[in-house]
Amino acid sequence: MTALPTVRTKADLRARVAAWRAAGERVALVPTMGALHEGHLSLVGIGRANAEHVVASLFVNPTQFSPAEDFDAYPRDEARDAELLAAAGCDLLYAPGAEEMYPPGFATSVAVAHVSEGMEGAARPHHFGGVATVVTKLLTQAAPDVAVFGEKDYQQLQVIRRLTRDLDLPVEIIGGPTMRADDGLALSSRNAYLSAQQRAIAPALNRALKACAQAVAKGAAVDASEAAAIEAILAAGFDSVDYLEVRSAEYLERLGPGPIDAPARVLTAARLGRTRLLDNEPI
Ligand code: AMP
Repeated sequence: MTALPTVRTKADLRARVAAWRAAGERVALVPTMGALHEGHLSLVGIGRANAEHVVASLFVNPTQFSPAEDFDAYPRDEARDAELLAAAGCDLLYAPGAEEMYPPGFATSVAVAHVSEGMEGAARPHHFGGVATVVTKLLTQAAPDVAVFGEKDYQQLQVIRRLTRDLDLPVEIIGGPTMRADDGLALSSRNAYLSAQQRAIAPALNRALKACAQAVAKGAAVDASEAAAIEAILAAGFDSVDYLEVRSAEYLERLGPGPIDAPARVLTAARLGRTRLLDNEPI
């Protein structure tokens, strides 16, 4: 059994955080949807390095899933997650129910333009509205000094940086590097959906991104490098590529078609059977 203290209401969460901050201690928030792995736990470690106390939130946010997506099937095991968080040095779990987060009459949403357009925003039209709204709520409920998000979901990280700046939220956003299996596959809760055969194909996604990033860094044209990466992903056995795009590192503007000379990122989402995998690499 875990000894991790758990609160389920924003009032209890605020009381705990207020007591720490009144004592002059810093607080880090790590938002998650559970089904935790080493990627999430690395964010807890970053929180610990930046604050005296780490709060993890566990909320499978219904508004960021479309009706066709895996909200009902999303893996849920709070007891296991709480044990992993306690072992990683987390001090408090905030696990609100849907009615605490979205009480009857809830009518407000946060929309972030530009940076949320294209890529995940095109493939999942309501996704970033759901993410931006719930993250804004988590940041105002917990009122942390810092909040830690993974570079694994790079477009999401940039959307969150944008909204905290635009809404003047007094929090520092820290991006944590992507944790990977030894063969390069980015750790993800959705990797659990892969068959053994699909799992063997999956590392091709990161190999293709790395090759694309290296080619563009050496001066190759963006359009040809993107096309070669998509071809390599499909040749490895992926069923389809939703997008694979080289974008500017901060505002995620489309770059190319020729060579580029600025900080950039190559981002992709591709499908292996029914599973959709995301990854990105810096250029
Ligand atoms: P999720 O529970 O999938 O919504 O993810 C919660 C947080 O963990 C987000 O900030 C993700 O970007 C981050 N995350 C997910 N996978 C990884 C990974 N492999 N490495 C680092 N962070 C990750």
